[in-house]
This record gives sequence, structure tokens and C-alpha cells, in this order.
Amino acid sequence: MSMPDAGPPDSGDHDGGSDHSEVDERERELLARRAAKLFSGRVDFLLSAPQLKFLPEPTVPEIAFCGRSNVGKSSLLNALTGRRSIARASVTPGRTQELNFFEVGEPTLFRLVDMPGYGFAKAPPSVVDKWKKLVKSYLRGRQVLHRNLVLIDSRHGIKDVDRDMMEMLDGAAVGYRVVLTKADKIKASELDAVIAKVADEVRKHPAAFPEMHVTSAEKGMGIPELRAAVLMDAGV
Ligand code: GDP
Repeated sequence: MSMPDAGPPDSGDHDGGSDHSEVDERERELLARRAAKLFSGRVDFLLSAPQLKFLPEPTVPEIAFCGRSNVGKSSLLNALTGRRSIARASVTPGRTQELNFFEVGEPTLFRLVDMPGYGFAKAPPSVVDKWKKLVKSYLRGRQVLHRNLVLIDSRHGIKDVDRDMMEMLDGAAVGYRVVLTKADKIKASELDAVIAKVADEVRKHPAAFPEMHVTSAEKGMGIPELRAAVLMDAGV
């Protein structure tokens, strides 16, 4: 599925058929092809960092993924990389509070960072505090962090825990994209309503891209577009 909203923030051209949009179209196609090739090539789990001191050397751009527990983050990472279990492979139960790094490209062009899920029911305050500390310091201090992706479950829309996360991201110096997950789980009419509602709220966040991504890891919906966006954000 293509993006539901107008194109990327910097394109804004609705004059279909002009030379400009033809060039855009061709560039988009080339980018999509390059993205598909890259993601089907080398993608390796690098390490899990339970604390900042375990972060890898900041040698390449990083794109980080965050969302509530169960939002479909592992499934989305698997779909993007065309693997069945790349995200799961590293996430044993004890490791869910760690930042997981994956390298893409040979040699490595950029990293995908799987941030610990938030909003887990009944998490003890010590676990929540640890999560906040780790994520906040990563977001603030990571110079190679090029973009964050905030995953929102299509069935539930933006919840208070997501709002907290978005506010934290507004305070960091890095822009973020909102990605709706599990779009196959609701009817098209309901999905349209969720898209409109989420878009309204997203517009109020200064660091959020107005353009949203609507995805289904299950059906492959929106995956090629998201791959291309990741490549663009990584600047590779
Ligand atoms: P995580 O906790 O955020 O990593 O979430 P998971 O990727 O483990 O997904 C949570 C649940 O949602 C699992 O049962 C997945 O099979 C399911 N799920 C994830 N993505 C999709 C999707 O696009 N469509 C459907 N129908 N189910 C999904």
C-alpha cells in the first residue's frame, strides 16, 4: 500500500504529469529497488546493550524502532529484513530491556536499533525507570541516530504511553516517523478513521513527520515504502 497522506514533506507536488513528478517517480522507483536489494542482503544481529557503556562504536547511521510491547515491532523488523526471526533471535525474555542493534549492508551501511518495548502491564517501577534512563540517554546522546520510528497499533491508535514516548522524542534532537502496524487486522473504513485521527495528533508534534506509514507485517503492506524511507533517513 502506498502512503495514505500527501507525499514526503519536501515533495508536495500534486501536479501529476509534470517533469518534476516524473523525475520524483523514477527516483522513488530506483530507491525502492535499492532498498529491496539492500534489505535482502546482509542483515546481522550485532549486540544487545543493557546499558549505555555497551553501545557499539558510533560509526554508521542508526534508525531506531520503538513502540508498546506487542505493537508488532519484531514482526515489522522481520518483514523489513525479509527474515522470519531476526528480531526474535536476539530477544530472549531477559533481554527485552536492552537496545538491540542490527547491521545492514556489506560493508555495514547503517544499523537498525530495536528499542525496548514500553507500556508493559504491571511492570515494576524499577524496570520502568531503567527503561526510561536507557532510552532517554540513547536518544539524547547518540549523534549517529538519524531517525526514530514510532510504531502504533492500528487497532488501538495513540495511547497515553505512546504520547509520553512522542513527547520524549519531541525533546530529543531527532525527527520521527509514525508507523501504523497490523493494518490488516481492521476493516478499511475503520483504518481510514484511525489514520485520520492519528494524523491529526501527529501534526501537533514538532518532531514528527506529517507523513505516516501504514503497514502490515503479515501482508507486506507498506513494507517496500518503509524500507525506502529508512534508506533515505540513513542517508545511504
Ligand atoms: P512486539 O512485542 O512489538 O515485538 O510484537 P510482535 O511482533 O511479537 O507481535 C505481537 C503479536 O501481533 C504477534 O502475535 C504477531 O503475530 C501479531 N502481529 C504482528 N504484526 C502483525 C500484522 O501485521 N498483522 C497481524 N494480523 N498480526 C500481527
